Amino acid sequence: MSHMSESLVIRGPGQLDLEALPVQAPAENELIVDIKLGGICGSDLHYWKHGSSGASVLTDPMILGHEVVGIVQQAAADGAGPTAGTPVAIHPATSCGTCAQCTAGRSHLCLDGRYLGSAAHRPHTHGGFTTSMVVPRRNVRPLPEGVPLEHFAMAEPASVAWHAVNRAGSVTGRRILVIGAGPIGLAIVAVLRLRGAGEIVVSDLFPRPLDTARRLGADRTTSPGEPGGEETNVDFDTTFECSGTPAGLSQAVEATRGGGDVVMVGNQRVGDVPFPAARAISKELRISGSWRFQNEFDEVVQALASGQLDLTPIITHIIDWSDYNRAFELASRPSESSKVLLAIGPRHQVDAK
Ligand SMILES: [Zn+2]
Ligand SMILES: [Zn+2]
Repeated sequence: MSHMSESLVIRGPGQLDLEALPVQAPAENELIVDIKLGGICGSDLHYWKHGSSGASVLTDPMILGHEVVGIVQQAAADGAGPTAGTPVAIHPATSCGTCAQCTAGRSHLCLDGRYLGSAAHRPHTHGGFTTSMVVPRRNVRPLPEGVPLEHFAMAEPASVAWHAVNRAGSVTGRRILVIGAGPIGLAIVAVLRLRGAGEIVVSDLFPRPLDTARRLGADRTTSPGEPGGEETNVDFDTTFECSGTPAGLSQAVEATRGGGDVVMVGNQRVGDVPFPAARAISKELRISGSWRFQNEFDEVVQALASGQLDLTPIITHIIDWSDYNRAFELASRPSESSKVLLAIGPRHQVDAK
């Protein structure tokens, strides 16, 4: 029996619409999940504004969204895995499993990998902003009953943050600067607090996300160009660059002590960007890139389930997905919002707050 789902489809810049699409028949080891919440991410906004995200260019219509949680509607036919009614989070990545990166334990760097809601390959990989979605069992993580689903809606960006903190080595007792207080920067603050970082300083242009950073455990916040900032914002052991701007990269190199670590998390524009290489060399900085995550997703789901990690302060809005244009507008204004969630579902069933 085939049925239809409603999906938020992007066809080109500004061409976003809810469309009815048939749900494919699940394989033996696949389940059908009714998606309930979906976080709007930077890449979704890029596809919406420009029809591309980094080097990934839309050539065909694609369902957006890779930060989704929901309820199992139909268990896998082979009988294994979560049963109907179980709340679940969805790991958005799949990898080939056989290449050199996959076998070396770096499946997130697999060149043949797929990610929900991504136009990196053709055909594009449809995302999770949809009422019903067929998902392989290995991508589904059962969640505890009794914890509201919105606690897990940040599982994907939190995994990006968790992975970035792992890239820095030990952060215990260290003096740390986070440049850029978008959802990822904010999640990094919460993960750093959990890992026993020493002092955490956060820098951003806007006061609202800096308030959130303090709620999540930042000791101090600053804005670029603030009086006295240049003298006090130096000599950090580790800096996380989460702004994705060349100015942020320069600030990271300047603010980190000799022999310290810089982790580049924010996506820079494609191509060359200016970089103070001589300073980085003479300070012997260890500079690491950080890209997505793999098994960190499971650690994050556990930390969210136990309440050790609470990222709900980062969620500023939950909006009925029929109001998608307003939600996307809001998500692209960092002075007003951090994470905007879409409440996904047949319109008569949605109870957005
Ligand atoms: Zn994301
Ligand atoms: Zn691979």
